[in-house]
Amino acid sequence: MLDLFVAREKIAQAASALARSETLPLSQARGRILAEDCLALVDVPPAANSAMDGYALVAPSSPPPCTLPISQIIAAGTPPKPLEQGTAARIFTGAEIPPGANAVVIQEDCDATAETVTVRVAVKPSENIRQQGQDLQRGQLVAKKGERLTAVHLGLLASCGISVVTVAAKPRIALLSTGSELIEPGQTLAPGQIYNSNQFMLAALLEDWGCEVVFKGRVEDDLEKTRHLLSEWAEAVDLIVTSGGVSVGDADHLKAAISSTGELNLWKVRLKPGKPLAFGHIHHTAGKTPVIALPGNPVSSFVTAALFIKPFIAGLCGQPYRPLEFRPQVSGFSIDRPNKRPELIRVKWENGKLQRFSNQSSGVLSSVVWADGLAWIEADICVRAGDTVPYIAMSDLLSL
Ligand code: AMP
Ligand code: MG
Repeated sequence: MLDLFVAREKIAQAASALARSETLPLSQARGRILAEDCLALVDVPPAANSAMDGYALVAPSSPPPCTLPISQIIAAGTPPKPLEQGTAARIFTGAEIPPGANAVVIQEDCDATAETVTVRVAVKPSENIRQQGQDLQRGQLVAKKGERLTAVHLGLLASCGISVVTVAAKPRIALLSTGSELIEPGQTLAPGQIYNSNQFMLAALLEDWGCEVVFKGRVEDDLEKTRHLLSEWAEAVDLIVTSGGVSVGDADHLKAAISSTGELNLWKVRLKPGKPLAFGHIHHTAGKTPVIALPGNPVSSFVTAALFIKPFIAGLCGQPYRPLEFRPQVSGFSIDRPNKRPELIRVKWENGKLQRFSNQSSGVLSSVVWADGLAWIEADICVRAGDTVPYIAMSDLLSL
């Protein structure tokens, strides 16, 4: 059985960056990954402008107080005339500095009439001026290939005149739920049946991680039908994700389905929840498509999706591998009976310490909704309240 950290890196490193890209208007590019560098089309700001409401003049002027006629009024959006010698221009925040002026004195330091302004303070050159290009200069690298476009990126790109960007294509994913007991919410449960919760959770996670889920399906516990779907989907997608049927029971066919339609590269990870996880490739005429088979218990599905699918998708999008980052935090709980496998338990902050959910069964999905994060409990150890345990917040676990 592979160590979690080894398995995670091994799987993620097997992802090769997709070659497909698309060009999108900026308004549709949030969260996408740049497929090429972006260079500023103009200086930002394009011209020197006033940082304050006040008076533009030539500094240093005569010693204060100094009275100057007001020769023009410049509002943001109006081009200024050159400053007449020996005068001041009334100016507002964001308005362009008139040629000839080199400072702005704030209106709080002035006494003004309709025609003149008396400056009560000494004014230094450049004061209250935002210089042309102080944020970005034309031709400067604004955002690099491989960067994910956040809201702030979009603002920055817009500021330097960029209206379209070329981004990596969304990875195309096929999602398969396996289990003869599964039916969809909305249908009435018959004895022996349960609702297919993983499909909704995994599809949403995949979309959160920037993927397009192009095939969604459910298959009963049947080797032939599973093989058939994997083969049918493989060529059209970048990754197949399955849930359930990956353990050793008679009804668990994923391992055999992967080996017999391609290759099984990895199976079983030293982890609770989530031991029965498989990674392999489905072979087809155009090559081979990776498949990550997650365990069916909903908590296991969730945890292993975050641990293994997320970094794999990052790899498909051309992003470098990032190891998991746990931080030591104080435990408010104790564990008296050590586990044979390392365990990721659902925990929540209470009064500055972590508390654990009372039922850590991998079937209890409410524990994940309740939790702020996961604590890593090494195999064969006991934990006393007050000890530190490695912790990862749900937001870090899920964020890209
Ligand atoms: P398996 O990994 O197929 O052995 O499933 C482990 C447990 O998870 C069983 O109790 C299944 O009924 C349950 N399970 C499997 N797939 C799903 C699913 N898609 N939604 C909810 N529960 C599931
Ligand atoms: Mg099953």
